[in-house]
Amino acid sequence: MRAVVTGGAGFLGSYLCERLVERDWEVICMDNFLTGSPRNVEHLVGRPNFKIVECDLTGFVHVPGEVALVMHFASAASPADYLRYPIETLRVGSIGTLHALGLAREKGARFVLASTSEVYGDPLEHPQKETYWGNVNPVGPRSVYDEAKRFAESLTTAYRESRGADTGIVRIFNTYGPRMRPFDGRAIPTFIRQALRGEPITVTGDGTQTRSICYVDDTVDGILALAFGDFPGPVNIGNPDEMTMADLAKLIRELAGSDSPIEFVDRPADDPRVRRPDTTVAAEHLGWRPRVPAEEGLRRTIEWFRAELGVLSRR
Ligand code: NAD
Repeated sequence: MRAVVTGGAGFLGSYLCERLVERDWEVICMDNFLTGSPRNVEHLVGRPNFKIVECDLTGFVHVPGEVALVMHFASAASPADYLRYPIETLRVGSIGTLHALGLAREKGARFVLASTSEVYGDPLEHPQKETYWGNVNPVGPRSVYDEAKRFAESLTTAYRESRGADTGIVRIFNTYGPRMRPFDGRAIPTFIRQALRGEPITVTGDGTQTRSICYVDDTVDGILALAFGDFPGPVNIGNPDEMTMADLAKLIRELAGSDSPIEFVDRPADDPRVRRPDTTVAAEHLGWRPRVPAEEGLRRTIEWFRAELGVLSRR
């Protein structure tokens, strides 16, 4: 069984490659290393069933031989990244998704789209169910990501409805864990980095906005449950354990054994006020529920960052 993982050298993609390799799948990891790095999968290089191919999904894409599964994860994902690469993000969400779907259809493979809770925008419904259509500003700065993913969902659905493609859409909520980049701009790596270095922990706005954070092992379990079945989704995968950003900052500070002060800074435009998945569909259709409590997942992540930042500071 062969799988193609686009964005396979990124944070989530690298775990998917790893888990598929462990299950004896032959894995082709396709990435242009825009926001990911071969370092994330270097432990897989040399395994006979793992291959890494440097390629831009928005260009010509060809994979010889049979493919049973295409996991489409290529896309900048952190706000800092997609604001730095706005056109690239729109291109990979649109043209890249078209190419990945074309590949899946040509091979008769199952196709899994990595969508996002950001399709719900700044939600007017809480928690967010898959039936909610979202509240996205189409010309706001975040639209390059949100609208690219909404378009990708539409394209995936059209391939399913009009071309008979076997597709699944997963709406991933904030996921964290080892291999996130310390400077990727997302809240958890930023807070951990600041806490470990004794720098002020910068919380945006007044810190009352909420997020629901899911440990990477749980997220990957949910994604694979979708990949190995035939459920079309969309399905929310995330941990409904919601907390304010101020509380998250305090928890990370405590777990890191840090005495960093908490500093409130400007909130970015169109930043969602609340975020919590309704995971009923995932439980009913995939038998999935998150298992790792925030304290446990954050502890593991902090230890990884401690080692990672130690390496960085010696360079
Ligand atoms: P990431 O930035 O670590 O990984 C994305 C990967 O895609 C990178 O390795 C990057 O180099 C690659 N890529 C980007 N453009 C490409 C192109 N044109 N051709 C080939 N490769 C390209 O981000 P991540 O957190 O691992 O996110 C992976 C996917 O999951 C994304 O599609 C993202 O939207 C989705 N997602 C992630 C989260 C999360 O919390 N991590 C939440 C919701 C959705």
